[in-house]
Amino acid sequence: MHIDILTLFPAMFQGFFSESIISRAVEKRAVEIVLHDIREYSTDKHRSVDDYPYGGGAGMVMQIDPIARLIDKLKSERQYDEIIYMSPDGFSFNQQEANRLSLHQNIILLCGHYKGVDQRIRDHYVTREISIGDYVLSGGELAAAVVTDAVVRVLPGVIGDETSALTDSFQDNLLAPPVYTRPASYRGWKVPPVLMSGNQSAIDQWREEQALERTRRLRPDLPED
Ligand code: SAH
Repeated sequence: MHIDILTLFPAMFQGFFSESIISRAVEKRAVEIVLHDIREYSTDKHRSVDDYPYGGGAGMVMQIDPIARLIDKLKSERQYDEIIYMSPDGFSFNQQEANRLSLHQNIILLCGHYKGVDQRIRDHYVTREISIGDYVLSGGELAAAVVTDAVVRVLPGVIGDETSALTDSFQDNLLAPPVYTRPASYRGWKVPPVLMSGNQSAIDQWREEQALERTRRLRPDLPED
């Protein structure tokens, strides 16, 4: 999979992407992530990328030209399945959407800043808008990092144990059951004996019951099927 991230602050991603599962996925060539600095596509002498809003009011708006020129260039090199704008008024991101995006070959994640991007970018280039929750961030960078992480970890071969991502919360609309590791007793707090019983079918049944109980208690809004 190939992900192009368009941002005014490429350095914001570097630490996050150079650790853990994302960096491993890049090393294994399961994903290619390219950061593009929108400012490099500004043509005026001050390298400006934002301007005052038509109609007045507070805040600045990201200009159409640098973003349009950058996207045009990228589109001349690849065919994109989706050009995604990170936006608080977009589709509410969830596991299903992460799974869906992970099936694509090429996607663009466009990060806004200030008051956001000129609406014409959204009208003429963007094919999907994604929000990571009902709150406003100062930029799309954290949102794009969240989406990238969620998508990359479900790509085939990225997580060592092939089944691991499938047993996480929200796959099958279920929360994950509790997990434990050694020691078996800590300050008198014990691991449920069934997990040490060696009886795999009893363990599987216990996990299923726990997952169901947790989901009903903590997330009654998730559909049961
Ligand atoms: N004026 C806009 C908010 C702009 S916030 C509004 O009221 O809707 C600046 C940028 O941060 C946005 O362009 C978007 O790219 C990003 N952003 C902020 N909150 C976000 C969220 N919840 N999900 C995804 N992106 C978000």
